[in-house]
Amino acid sequence: MKIAKEFNWEMGHRLPFHQGKCKNLHGHSYKMMVEFSGEMDENGMVMDYYDVKSHISPLVEELDHAFMVKENDAEVLEFLDKINSKKVIVPFDSTAENICLYFLKKLKNSGLPKTVNSVKVKILETDNTYAEEEIDV
Ligand SMILES: [Zn+2]
Repeated sequence: MKIAKEFNWEMGHRLPFHQGKCKNLHGHSYKMMVEFSGEMDENGMVMDYYDVKSHISPLVEELDHAFMVKENDAEVLEFLDKINSKKVIVPFDSTAENICLYFLKKLKNSGLPKTVNSVKVKILETDNTYAEEEIDV
């Protein structure tokens, strides 16, 4: 059985390596679908939607209205510090693929119920692009 919940946040980023528009400072209204696969418990639930929310909302809240910046992007880090702007420093380029893995890694270590066998995260930067990966937990 599978259950899923959608999450949304606004976040700025840039891809310094990119030859096109993505090297510029810009942002997205991110959408994420998180899907849990597993067995139903005695109450007929794979995972309580309230627990889904309590696992994921704090992670989303950390990113909302922040700028995701790679740890070695010194100029942007300095600028964000200077204007005292919310930021999330990460060791990777903030592609949809890497953000997907970022969430999967956090979810894997978040004490999911025994009923859950695997988690799938789908990250949408726009309405018509996404990155998706599934892991066993
Ligand atoms: Zn972008």
